Amino acid sequence: MSSVDLHRLAQEMGPQLVEDRRHLHRHPDLSGAEQATAAFIGQRLRRLGLQPREMVDGRAVVADIEGGAGAGRRLLIRADIDALPIQEQGPERPYRSEVPGVMHACGHDAHVAVALGVARALCELRPQLSGGVRLVFQPAEETAGGAAEMIASGAMDDPVVEGALGLHIWSGVPAGQVGVRDGAIFASADEFWVEVRGRGGHGALPHQALDPVPIASLLVLALQTLVSRETSPFEAAVVTIGKVQGGQAFNVIPETVRLTGTVRAFSEELRLRLLRRIGETAAGIAGAFGATAETVRGAGCPPVVCAPAMSNLVRRAVEASPGAELVEPDPITVGDDFSLFLERAPGCYFLLGAGNSAAGITAPHHHPEFDIDESCLAVGVEVMLRAAMEFCRSGSGA
Ligand SMILES: [Zn+2]
Ligand SMILES: [Zn+2]
Repeated sequence: MSSVDLHRLAQEMGPQLVEDRRHLHRHPDLSGAEQATAAFIGQRLRRLGLQPREMVDGRAVVADIEGGAGAGRRLLIRADIDALPIQEQGPERPYRSEVPGVMHACGHDAHVAVALGVARALCELRPQLSGGVRLVFQPAEETAGGAAEMIASGAMDDPVVEGALGLHIWSGVPAGQVGVRDGAIFASADEFWVEVRGRGGHGALPHQALDPVPIASLLVLALQTLVSRETSPFEAAVVTIGKVQGGQAFNVIPETVRLTGTVRAFSEELRLRLLRRIGETAAGIAGAFGATAETVRGAGCPPVVCAPAMSNLVRRAVEASPGAELVEPDPITVGDDFSLFLERAPGCYFLLGAGNSAAGITAPHHHPEFDIDESCLAVGVEVMLRAAMEFCRSGSGA
């Protein structure tokens, strides 16, 4: 099939892509409860004649598309499927979320629609497809647990995949543009808690207590020096304390103060060092006052690192797609557990531009008025399709 035909194939499925995306947008599922979304995906894939497998308590779906053009490589394409605990606001859109307090405010509805479009196109292109493509619909990206669960359930095995591609739509990039980088594109993302324990008492008699409030306050400031004083100015990292909890009354010194925060870094080495130093700094500062601090690391994932050969594959796909413009984005300090797939297979995670300032589509991700320019959906299908066809063909001897 010529390059023009692939373009037409993607463009012609535009209305279906929009319909799927809007259905999902109206019916979002929170991380950990994606059964209805997974059932919808399974039904769509069965309609194509595929045999999707459910995983992770019916919250995840995997489907293999076997090529009809002989031996080749096997590519994994991943779409995350979960939504966020956000009440949708803004203009009264016909596809507004029908679930109170839950919204596709990160655009994973678009990721599913694009992956279903790729499945539909690959089923048509099967006679020209070498090797095979595995579509992986992953739950619980927002809570950073879904990728690990799927990999543990065998999502990358039997037969083993040799490369991985994923995309994130991005409202900060205009629709029509596709952002591709070598190396890290998204940061690592980790949650941590520090519990500073002193000794409670009367607010008027601080000398008889061991007040954890000033200790926790010093610690919040001290943690900022892990980036400003201990990290090279040429390396980006973030340490944020997003939650401070302690105390019940104006005249009572509490027993404990709990700090909750996140760490972001673009290398695994820096990520691990910052996590270690948070614990050491907390213990040292609390210890200086005779108090204790226990640091616990929560859910997290490594940085999303693209293999240059796979980024080049996507770059070629963008350049071959009429109407798509290749750009190179700066790394972004959000995280994504697609990184766990990339630890096991070379791959590329790229940004599919979805913003449109002329149409007022400018809200950032995780914002209650988040929306996308739906023209990006067909662009995503075309780029993914071209990259998949080329990846699976190489190694086939063709
Ligand atoms: Zn998100
Ligand atoms: Zn997201």
